[in-house]
Amino acid sequence: MKPDLAVEPLDSWIQTDGKPLIIAGPCSAETEEQLVETARQLAALGQVHAIRAGVWKPRTRPGSFEGMGEPALAWIQRAKAETGLPFAVEVATPQHIELALKYGVDILWVGARTTVNPFNVQEIADALKGVDVPVLVKNPVNPDLALWVGAFERIAGAGITKLGAIHRGFSTGEASKYRNIPMWQMAIELRTMFPQLPIIGDPSHMAGKRAYLNELAQMAMDLNYDGLIVESHIDPDKAWSDAAQQLTPAAFGEMLEHLHIRQLESSDREFQSAMEQIRVKIDSVDRQLVEHLAARMSLVEKLAEYKRDNNVSMFQPDRWKEILESRKQLGAKLNLYPELVEEIYKIIHMESIRKQTEVINSAPVA
Ligand code: PEP
Ligand code: MN
Repeated sequence: MKPDLAVEPLDSWIQTDGKPLIIAGPCSAETEEQLVETARQLAALGQVHAIRAGVWKPRTRPGSFEGMGEPALAWIQRAKAETGLPFAVEVATPQHIELALKYGVDILWVGARTTVNPFNVQEIADALKGVDVPVLVKNPVNPDLALWVGAFERIAGAGITKLGAIHRGFSTGEASKYRNIPMWQMAIELRTMFPQLPIIGDPSHMAGKRAYLNELAQMAMDLNYDGLIVESHIDPDKAWSDAAQQLTPAAFGEMLEHLHIRQLESSDREFQSAMEQIRVKIDSVDRQLVEHLAARMSLVEKLAEYKRDNNVSMFQPDRWKEILESRKQLGAKLNLYPELVEEIYKIIHMESIRKQTEVINSAPVA
């Protein structure tokens, strides 16, 4: 099945003036005062396009703060009225969706603990049929791209076209300085499958700690993400959930000031023509690379025929060792990482063994 999604561009549902989409707000709505004041300070930065808050909190263990539920939706209405900004909330059940929409929530997101479960995602998709609302889907807790893709397919199947991905990192059991390991290549793979799907970085849930927010937000920007969702709280240390990773609105404003946002393309004529010239050269070098690979394979094929006709074994370990070492040394002299040359030669060697096996098991040409 060739995956495809009908996705509307981000600027069809939120105005960002060509800048990355910035969503910020507390992990959880705790009190009316905390929510409205955080929203007010964030709006005052002039750089935030939407406010977030958790109203129902999916907790790993029972007994932790599980969110204020419906009463918090009324505070959201006030925060919206005071700031004029749209509001995003996590939904995990059809009831959450019904309530969020009833109170005028503008953007829904599916949390990492929900994306892992196709039953839950399908229930959410069914509840979204006939509704026109933007839905952002966080990556599943575990690094399984198919689960993430499946969630988009189910929600798109319900007719939702205002879609976006939130990359919040993965829990892998491996030791890491981050709470959730980013595994950037997962998001890049998603982008390759669905180039039109906006991707928003969530440095807060990747980091787990304030100290790592900057570097993760910068990395997301360097990878040309379409935006960021960051947790911000007027008094982070006293937050009822995710205290260690939240920033005051002022600290968040400072972080935004220091973010370096690169342009995807430059319209500068000279720059474009320089790029074009280099690309033409790269295309030509790549062509030679592939032609050389093909030439090498045809030599291997000849070698295999000699081995077969003289009954010599296919794999000669000393020769392979010598190839690997001499190519790595050559690479090092030319400023290439030895690991790069080693990995490439391992792949070439595997293919060469496959080809030789094929030749040796074929009958000699009469
Ligand atoms: C959150 O956004 O507060 C949250 C619960 O995140 P995640 O689903 O990424 O754990
Ligand atoms: Mn959180």
